[in-house]
Amino acid sequence: MKGEKKRSPLFIQGVLLDEQKVDILIEDSRIAGIDAKLEMPASALLIDGRGKAVFPTFVNMHTHAAMTLFRGFGDDHPLQEWLQEWIWPNEKNLTEEIIYWGTRLACLEMIKSGTTAFADMYFHLPAAAKAVEESGIRALLGYTVFDFGDPATAAKVKDEVAEWHCRISKETGSGRVCYGLAPHAPYTVSDKTLSWLADYAAENGLKYHIHMSETESEVENSIAQHGKRPYEHLHDLGILQKTGDRFIGAHSLHLTEEEAEMVGRNRCNVVHNPNSNLKLGSGFKFLYQELSQAGCNVSLGTDGCSSSNNLDMLEATKTMALLQKGWRGDPTTMPAREALEVASRNGYRALGLDGGQLRAGALADLMLVDINNVAFLPHNDNTLSNLIYAAHSDAIDTVICNGRIVMEGRRVADEDEIMKNADKMVGELIKHRP
Ligand SMILES: [Zn+2]
Repeated sequence: MKGEKKRSPLFIQGVLLDEQKVDILIEDSRIAGIDAKLEMPASALLIDGRGKAVFPTFVNMHTHAAMTLFRGFGDDHPLQEWLQEWIWPNEKNLTEEIIYWGTRLACLEMIKSGTTAFADMYFHLPAAAKAVEESGIRALLGYTVFDFGDPATAAKVKDEVAEWHCRISKETGSGRVCYGLAPHAPYTVSDKTLSWLADYAAENGLKYHIHMSETESEVENSIAQHGKRPYEHLHDLGILQKTGDRFIGAHSLHLTEEEAEMVGRNRCNVVHNPNSNLKLGSGFKFLYQELSQAGCNVSLGTDGCSSSNNLDMLEATKTMALLQKGWRGDPTTMPAREALEVASRNGYRALGLDGGQLRAGALADLMLVDINNVAFLPHNDNTLSNLIYAAHSDAIDTVICNGRIVMEGRRVADEDEIMKNADKMVGELIKHRP
């Protein structure tokens, strides 16, 4: 059986949860108990919870982790020009070593901003898997597919999907990393390959992570080519029905209410990426209410650092809540508690994990926030509100994933080495400058 080695229980004493002081006992990877007063086992490691509030950690449901090395490169250009002239020529230089350090840097940034799980879509999966394993957090690593309708590439994809599946399953021992499929988008992958991947995902119980309806022009092109919008097209191919709750549709920004119905009916997951959509000028009227009321599980992501510039889920949560209120003209839409639920619990749900909740039996993925940080003052029983609307991630003091401390007092193991090596990789990756 997969799993990490047994270790001492953790005992968090006197921490604020929903404005009440509690003790929390963590045994192995799970929360064993939460109560006003608990007995501390003699073998437990004590964490002083005074001056701290506890929250579930975030799940970044759509990103391209190693692209953190492209941070700030080619900003403020149109999407296609940026891809074709800045990113793609340099992605030819990617190596296992670059992916490894890029992913370590991404994991470091995620831990520092309270994220303990992410859904990734990029290349050289074994190197990314090693980086995630060593960082102590969780990831769904998507094997990224582009075939641009070329039959030879499509044939190669079929071999590689099975090969990577086998390698990732063998090489990861902690149970924190899992393998999925990530066809890039309906406009970069042929219908045949999209369908073949959906069959493979259904047969092998894998997630199917894809960019959907990110821009208006993508929808127009789909209508011109197929006579249908992207989600309608995937529905007609039977993909939404086959993959169901294993489907993860990133962006999904330009949808009609009928499409939202269709996505919800098939219990698909959708990931909102507000900061990336805003920065690339793709739009902001995300149909959160329509999608969730239709039965869709809506989660949150940052997208890669080359389009959202950071991996900070706390910032993304605030942007998401403000955008919903703003474009609907309704301040009651998406209250703070619901925003946190989308950013945490719904992400775990999309990954098929019972994290994102503070209750006995759930996965011990949680963070302690410093309530003496200026954003939490004055203390007036508004802790959750202050987290979502006032705080920055520098208030996050301690992060626990799978029952293990991955950050304490804002220090992460190996952080100096990670930053030094990641910085060195930039010269290896970026050789072409338009
Ligand atoms: Zn993306």
